[in-house]
This record gives sequence, C-alpha cells and structure tokens, in this order.
Amino acid sequence: MKITFVYPSFERHGQAHPELLKYVACNEYIGPPSLGIASVAAATPEGHEIEFWDDRVQPFSADHQADLFALSYFTPAATRAMEIGDELKKRGKKVVMGGIFPSMMPELAAPHCDAVVVGEGEPVWPQVVADAAAGQLKPRYQASAPADLSTLKPPRVDLYLNAEREGYRPDDYPLQVSRGCPLACDACVLPIYLGKKSRFFSDSNLTATMKAFAERGKLVSLTEDTSFFPGARKSFRAFLELVLALQREGVKVKLSYIGISMPMILNLDATLLAQLKATGIDRFYLVGGFDPITRDAFGKGDPAALDKATRCIQRCHEVGIDPYVSFLAGNPEDDEGTFDRMLEFARKTKIDLAEFCVSTPYPNTPFWHRYLKEDRIFDRTWKHYNDANVVFRPYKMSPERLQEGYLYLWREFYKGRETDLTQRDHTRRTIQF
Ligand code: SF4
Repeated sequence: MKITFVYPSFERHGQAHPELLKYVACNEYIGPPSLGIASVAAATPEGHEIEFWDDRVQPFSADHQADLFALSYFTPAATRAMEIGDELKKRGKKVVMGGIFPSMMPELAAPHCDAVVVGEGEPVWPQVVADAAAGQLKPRYQASAPADLSTLKPPRVDLYLNAEREGYRPDDYPLQVSRGCPLACDACVLPIYLGKKSRFFSDSNLTATMKAFAERGKLVSLTEDTSFFPGARKSFRAFLELVLALQREGVKVKLSYIGISMPMILNLDATLLAQLKATGIDRFYLVGGFDPITRDAFGKGDPAALDKATRCIQRCHEVGIDPYVSFLAGNPEDDEGTFDRMLEFARKTKIDLAEFCVSTPYPNTPFWHRYLKEDRIFDRTWKHYNDANVVFRPYKMSPERLQEGYLYLWREFYKGRETDLTQRDHTRRTIQF
C-alpha cells in the first residue's frame, strides 16, 4: 500500500490577526510538525510505501493518489483536518485520523474518516495498516495499554527533513524524551492523552533521533515541561549526560531551548542548570498561566507571587539562559488589570522576548468540562482554539475585552521595536507545540 501521512494546517497568532504579523515572535510558529506522525510512521510494517504531506507548506490536494491517508492533528488544525477528510471521503478514499483532537473528541472526528485512533498510535498502527490492506478498517482503534517507549523505533524524522524547501527550513526540531505527566493542570490535554505516569524513550531511540538532526545541522528543542518533576529528574539527568557524551564523541548535537515553568526554574539546582547550559541550551520557553505563581501574580496581583516571578526571571538572567515568556490571559482569576500587570512585570524584569496567549478550553480538559457546565463556551469553530481567539465568556471581563487585551499586550510589549526585531538572528528560531 501507499500511505500518505498528512499534517493539516492551522493558524497561529499572526495568521489569526494579521495586524500581529509585524511582531516577529509570531514568525517563530512556522516551525516543524510535532513528532507524532514521524513516530507512527516508524511503526509501519515493512513493505509499504510512506510519504509525508505538510499542508502548511503546500496545501493538500484531495486528488492525490494513495491507498490510505493518515491525518494527525491537534485542536487548532481540526477544522482543516475535517475539510480534508470530507474531500477524501467524497472521492472514495480511505482515511484514518489520530492525534490529540481525535483522541479527545473521537465522536466528532468519526464522521470525517473511516477509522479513528484514540490515544497513542504506535501500538495499534500495524493493525490499522493490516486492516486497511485487507479492506477491513474498523471504526475505532485504541491500545489497551500505554506504548512501551523503550521498544519504539526512532521516529522517521527524515520525512520531515526531506519536506524542507525554500522558505521553510526550521532551525530547531523537537525531541521527545518522555511521555506522560503526573500533574493535572486545568487546561492541559497531556495527562489525559498520554497518561499520568512518566515513561521514557530508550537511549538508542534518542541517540538515533539526535544524530539524524545533527547530520542535517539542526538544533534539538525539548518542548515538554515535564522533565523537571522529581520522578523524572533522574532520567532527565541521564539524558543530559547522554547528550554531553555524544558531544564529546564529536556528534554535533546541540539542544537549543527547553519548555519550563516558573516553579521549576526556582527549584532547579545549580548542577542541573550547569548541565543544561553545557548542552547548549540558551533559551527557556517559559510557559505561564498554568502554574500557581503566574496565575496569582498576574491574575490577583499577589505581591508574594509577583516577587517569586521576579526572582525566576532574575535567575534566568543570572545563569545566562534567555527567558522567552509565554503570558496567558483569561484564566478565571484574571481581570482587566491583568494586562497591565503583565506588561509592568515584563518591563521591570527586562524580559526581551515574549508571546501572549488567550486562555483556551481545549476539548475534554477540566477547563472544557467546567466551562461547558457553566455554559460559557460560545464558539466551537476549532480553528479558533489556537490561543489567539476568545471562545468562552471569561469570569471577570467580557470576551471582547479579553480579545482586545490580548492584542494590546502584543502591541504594547513590542511597541517601537518592530523593525529591529525582524533583523535579529533569533527570529529564525522556532517554538513548537
Ligand atoms: S501543563 Fe505541563 S505540568 Fe501541567 S499537566 Fe500539562 S504537561 Fe503536566
């Protein structure tokens, strides 16, 4: 069989609000796809032809010929994925859907495809392929247990690297060190999608992936913020040792940025920080709005939380790892003062680079269920679920005020720096979700 994996397109800040395109941080979202497709592609049994189509780079054509189309997508891409699925089905082609959105809302994905994969795809993918080849696809596939990451083959990142072209050459590619998260932040899908137990990839898997990127001169980014939990830290240290050992052997692997939160930065010990620096990490992608420090600091203006947040940024500056702060507005405690509290904090702490996001009740998260129960959700256009649009009625302000506040944050933070920023080297760096 010929199998075409499709990564459907979605909008980020600058596409959703073209007035933001002049702020260079928006360009950083033209990044590589998540590793999901590459990892499932690696689980494909021998004897099948595989190709990858990134709909963001070249709009997908439903007239394309293949025996099976596999779409992997998260919520912001669901609108486009459903369009693609419908067009393929109209032409009588076989379509499988998987990834975060189909796993969270399988009943919504089902009408647009022949089969939905719920949860991790690798354990069931060989069966899906076998059933498709026999013309006997089942409506739903779901593994009975989490994937054993120690046995997974390295992801087929060659599919992504070979899809690069003029105007689309990401500098960073993501690497997944582990899956699962023991916490349950209100707005996060990860513990629901990947489970609460931290599981780690094998050294051989990680080494092969890092070498594949290094050979093409790519940096490697760690997008998960789960590596610093007490239960994961030992394995994460071992991973950093692995990176350093490869570097000593002459492999040009270099980590670029890492996802992290304020409480984690405040709890990092000096040895771990030194290890991070030694691997090349020069930026923290510092996600706010999920942890108690940022929620209390910007939502309630709590002096103790603001003090902790200030110490966090100071620590980043002291160790020479640039904080790229992601401010999230629209949490239940946020009021109209939140926007100015964020800007004042950024000014005082001399944050150089930031992004601003609208709180979004992603389907099947605790936030989603709570807002659904309270009848707060007024927009179910999935492409609007992209951290750039207000899709619910907030507690302490109108939806319009929150939307305007989000745009105001971008405008005010980058005021007078628009042209300068486009000249900077780091504008080419990507941040991946
Ligand atoms: S936001 Fe991070 S810490 Fe919170 S549940 Fe999600 S992965 Fe875990």
